[in-house]
Amino acid sequence: MQSALFLIVFALTTLAAASPSVAGPAAQSQKLPPVSYVCPMAGDEDVIEDAPGLCRKCRMQLEPIRLDAAWTCPVHAAVMKDAPGKCPIDRRELVQVTVAVSWTCPGTTVDVLTPGSCVNGAPMVKKFTARAHGNHNPQHGGLFFMAPDNWHHLEGTYPRAGVFRLYLYDDYTKPLPRDQVRKTTARLVLKEVFDPATRTAKEEFAVPLVPAQNGRYLEARVGKMSFPARMTAKIKFQPAAPEHRFDFAFAEYSTVPVMPRTTGNAAVPAPAPAPEAGNTAGTPAPRNAVSTAASTAAVAAPSGGASSIGIDPGLVPLPVPDSVPEILAQLEQRTEQVRRFIDQGAFASVYVPAFQAKDLGLALDERTKDLEADGRRTVDPAIKRLVRSAWLLDAFGDLGNREHITEAFAQFVAAVKDVQAAFAVKK
Ligand SMILES: [Zn+2]
Ligand SMILES: [Zn+2]
Repeated sequence: MQSALFLIVFALTTLAAASPSVAGPAAQSQKLPPVSYVCPMAGDEDVIEDAPGLCRKCRMQLEPIRLDAAWTCPVHAAVMKDAPGKCPIDRRELVQVTVAVSWTCPGTTVDVLTPGSCVNGAPMVKKFTARAHGNHNPQHGGLFFMAPDNWHHLEGTYPRAGVFRLYLYDDYTKPLPRDQVRKTTARLVLKEVFDPATRTAKEEFAVPLVPAQNGRYLEARVGKMSFPARMTAKIKFQPAAPEHRFDFAFAEYSTVPVMPRTTGNAAVPAPAPAPEAGNTAGTPAPRNAVSTAASTAAVAAPSGGASSIGIDPGLVPLPVPDSVPEILAQLEQRTEQVRRFIDQGAFASVYVPAFQAKDLGLALDERTKDLEADGRRTVDPAIKRLVRSAWLLDAFGDLGNREHITEAFAQFVAAVKDVQAAFAVKK
């Protein structure tokens, strides 16, 4: 069973590498996400501008792109959907990722930003392309981090008493190739004491993290521990690379939830996405466990009850209301939620209300025809800035840099104010 599943996964993964996921023509009628300009340089994924020009970091020519949210299976990246739901392969809850959207003609190299017709008259087909750093979701029910080198990602799991596992990923959150895993040296520190004399943490007890026989993760024996189980992985991805530390705190054993197979289809309204077991406190998107701040500990909350109580309203996705006043009211709420997450240092959660605010902005964009000429002139650029600053909040949230995220939030707030002002002027 396990090996059969693995073969399917492998086949799908190989397929995905050969041809990016393609959605059906039904998906084409939806509104196009706005064009942003991004840097083609690896490591500059946080450069997202609303006009063409040069990258502020490396001066390369920016490239146009349509960024959008898509939903994929936690471990089957070949599956890419327009909306949340269940993975058709293993029934796990789909996770949100950032993708580039373009249109193509099957069997050709056509790749354009606006849908049109192919030479044979058929409509172009929508294509999703994964983005580096577009997926910060744990895949094994553990705690997920991005490394300070802005390329590696990793996930620690505590599957049962005495065992810690470390999964290593690349910039696309694909498992790290084995030759690179072999270059990695890592140990798990189980006891550290701060020495005031040297002002450094002295390791009292550490165990090696060694590749498991199946080559899929590194493993360490941790002995008996009580909850929350705290452990620190210290990792060098190359012999000459600096050592990074990642602090884990497990409130319970990491488990991968198995979703029951539903019998009817779409008879029951979809609830808010259920959090995965072993993630940070009741988050709808497991991505919340992300942090780059090596000194910040990610704490895994018990999964029981997390879906019913104690969820921060900022993390609960809501449908976009119909009327302009309701949309504006929700935009105000989302802005406050973003502000609160930033104040709390919960940077990895910021993207949820920021993306909801972006969707509210795009909904307002469809309701500008009743505005006076004055309002119409100012609302369009304001919505563009709102969308762009939401993407920036997402990008900086994952990197955990307070200065950048505060800057992006200032732009976001200014854009929201302008949008509100444009709609305040009644005809
Ligand atoms: Zn650049
Ligand atoms: Zn990343």
